[in-house]
Amino acid sequence: MSDGPSKLADGMTLAPRERVSVLGHLCEHKGCAKHAGFGFAWPRRDPHWFCSNAGDDGEQYL
Ligand SMILES: [Zn+2]
Repeated sequence: MSDGPSKLADGMTLAPRERVSVLGHLCEHKGCAKHAGFGFAWPRRDPHWFCSNAGDDGEQYL
């Protein structure tokens, strides 16, 4: 079990947890309304947010 994405593509940033908690994002995983602990953000593109249980789903945006 990983605690998050194992790798990030060049130019991609992983949003810090502190900032996530402030913004209060919810997981985008279908049917999941948990607090999103991981943010996948490309420059100039909208970020996608997922909880730790949906890390694999988030990797599709890598
Ligand atoms: Zn989720």
